[in-house]
Amino acid sequence: MTESDLRTAMLAALRRLDTAGLNRGSTGNLSHRCGEGLLITPTGMGADDIAPEDLVWLGFDGTRRGRLKPSSEWHFHQALYRARPELHAIVHTHATFATALACLRRELPAFHYMVAVAGGDSVRCAPYRLFGTEALSDAVVEAMHERKACLLATHGVVSAGATLREAMKVMTEIESLCQTYLAALAVGEPALLSGAEMAAVIEKFRGYGQGPVAAADPA
Ligand SMILES: [Zn+2]
Repeated sequence: MTESDLRTAMLAALRRLDTAGLNRGSTGNLSHRCGEGLLITPTGMGADDIAPEDLVWLGFDGTRRGRLKPSSEWHFHQALYRARPELHAIVHTHATFATALACLRRELPAFHYMVAVAGGDSVRCAPYRLFGTEALSDAVVEAMHERKACLLATHGVVSAGATLREAMKVMTEIESLCQTYLAALAVGEPALLSGAEMAAVIEKFRGYGQGPVAAADPA
């Protein structure tokens, strides 16, 4: 894919987040690995106001290409790409249900087998840190260890994947799971799957179709 195609695909994904109600206004952001750096959405702009050329390129060496300022959360995007060579796309939103759980500062446990879509038996909640800081970046990298998603306490949710499609699918699934978990919590404490039960799910995802995301597709 050329950089131009990538920019177009990223904007289309940003608009899909809005349409799906996962993102509102200018709070969310997304990035994609691009050469020796990453392309990321600019700060303070909604999906409808951004043109493909407005996406900002940030080099891992600290260089920058673009006339606008990058998302204030570029630190954790860059840190995740540095720490996790297998990740190529990252999405961050303040999606309602994931953020509600993050505001309770609770992780998403193995209350449903689809929690394994994020790569393990829970989706951790990173401790609260001020947005746009290295401290938040460190907390995100730690909470994302061996995972493709994490919650950010009193802030929002991050998802990632080998492709933009995967990162978007994980974001959609985690938001849906958080909605279900909160609905269950309103009545009582849902039962949790054991470590062995979740290991079996993760194993089945590995051998099924294109992995957990494909396994999660209803068709
Ligand atoms: Zn945020």
